[in-house]
Amino acid sequence: MATDWNALADTEFRALAARFFDEHCPRELRFTPRRLRWSVVQPWFLALSRQGWVAPSWPVEWGGMGLSPVKQVIYIEEYERSGAPVMQTQSLTNLGPILIARGSEAQRRKYLPKILSGEHVWVQGYSEPNAGSDLANLRTEARLEGDEFVINGQKIWTTMGFDGTHMFALVRTDRSVKKQAGISFVMFPMDQPGITVRPIRDISGAEEFCEVFLQDVRAHRSDLVGELNGGWEIAKTLLGFERVWSGSPRQSLIALARLEKVARANGSWEEGAFQDRYTQLVFDVQDLAAMYERLVRSLSVGKGFGLESSLLKMTATETCQRVTELLVEVAGADGALQGDVEIDGERIDVLTPFLESRGPTIYGGSNQIQRNILARQWLGLPG
Ligand SMILES: Cc1cc2nc3c(=O)[nH]c(=O)nc-3n(C[C@H](O)[C@H](O)[C@H](O)COP(=O)(O)OP(=O)(O)OC[C@H]3O[C@@H](n4cnc5c(N)ncnc54)[C@H](O)[C@@H]3O)c2cc1C
Repeated sequence: MATDWNALADTEFRALAARFFDEHCPRELRFTPRRLRWSVVQPWFLALSRQGWVAPSWPVEWGGMGLSPVKQVIYIEEYERSGAPVMQTQSLTNLGPILIARGSEAQRRKYLPKILSGEHVWVQGYSEPNAGSDLANLRTEARLEGDEFVINGQKIWTTMGFDGTHMFALVRTDRSVKKQAGISFVMFPMDQPGITVRPIRDISGAEEFCEVFLQDVRAHRSDLVGELNGGWEIAKTLLGFERVWSGSPRQSLIALARLEKVARANGSWEEGAFQDRYTQLVFDVQDLAAMYERLVRSLSVGKGFGLESSLLKMTATETCQRVTELLVEVAGADGALQGDVEIDGERIDVLTPFLESRGPTIYGGSNQIQRNILARQWLGLPG
C-alpha cells in the first residue's frame, strides 16, 4: 500500500525529503546552470521513480505522491535546496496533469505509468514559425483518415526535442472557423517516419531546442485529448500548483551567491557603488521570495492562482536577469568567457547563468504578454 505522506508531521516529512534528495541525487547533477540531457539525468529520475517520488502533486491512484499543498511546498523547497535538476517538466508538470484533468480513462491508463517509469519522454509541440505569442495562428494541419490523424507542418522551439519519445501537439483540424475554434490537442510517438528533428543552437552555444518537421505523421484517433476542435481549451487548462515551480527564487539566489563570490574575489565587494547595487538586488530577491512564499501559501489554503501568476513570472524572471547582468559586469573580462573560470581558487561559470536567464522571459507567455494580461484584466485598460 502507498505511504500516506500527508500523515507525517511537516517537520518529519521535510527531514525525510531533505535526506532523500541529499543522499540520492548525484553531486555532479546539482546546481547546473542549464537543462541536462535525458541520458544524464535518467538515473536520478529512476531513483525518484523507485521511491514513488517522481510526481508530488499527482493523485496516489495515478502513481503520484498525492501530497497536500503544504507538503508539496515542502517537497519543492527541499528539492530546490538540494540543487537537484529540474527534469521532464513537459511530462510531469504539463501533459500528466492535463491527462489527469482532461484525458480519457484509457489515455491515463496508457500513458501516466510510462511517464512515471521514465519509459516515455514527452515534448511540447505548440509553437510554430508565426505562431508563438499568437499561438492560435498555428498552421500545422491534421486530417482525419479513418482512425488516424495525418499531420503535416512544422513546430519550433521544441525543448529537448531530440530526447522525446512522444510529442503532444496543437494542430489545426478546421480552417473554416474562428482560429481558436479549429485547433485540436493530439499525442503521437516520435519514432515514426516523417518526423525530422533539427536542433537549434542558442546564444549560449547549447542545442536545447529544436525545429520539428512533420510530414504525413500519424496520430491515432484515440490519442486525441478532449473533443475534436477543443484543443484550445485543453491547452489552457489551468495547471495550478505545477506553475509554482516557474516563480521560484532559486535561480536568483544561486546567481546572487555567485555574485558575492566573484565580488569578494576581485575586490568589488569593498566598493560603495557595488554595495549599493548589490544591496538593491538582495532586496529584489527578498521581495521575490516573499511574493513566492505568499502565493504558495495562498495556494496551500485552497485559494486560486489567478493574475498573480503573471506577476510572479515577470518578477522571478526579470530579477534573475538583473542579478546575472551585474554578475557578468563585475566579473570583468572573465564575464566574457564561456564555461567555468577560475576565481579565487574556485571554478565558477559566470556567463552561462546570464545567457540562460534570457529564455524564461520569453517562454510560458512572454513578459510583454503577461503585462498585456495585467493591463487588461487588473487595471481595466483597453485591450
Ligand atoms: C527557452 C525556451 C524554450 C521553449 N520551449 C518550447 C517548447 O518546448 N515547446 C513549444 O511549443 N514552444 C517552446 N518555446 C517557445 C515559446 O513558447 C515562444 O518563444 C513564445 O511563445 C514567444 O513566441 P515567439 O518566439 O514566436 O515570439 P513572438 O510571439 O514573435 O514575439 C516576439 C516579441 O514580440 C512581443 N510581442 C508579441 N506579441 C505581442 C503583443 N501582443 N503585445 C506586446 N508584445 C508582443 C513578444 O513579447 C516578444 O518580445 C520555448 C521558448 C524558449 C525561449
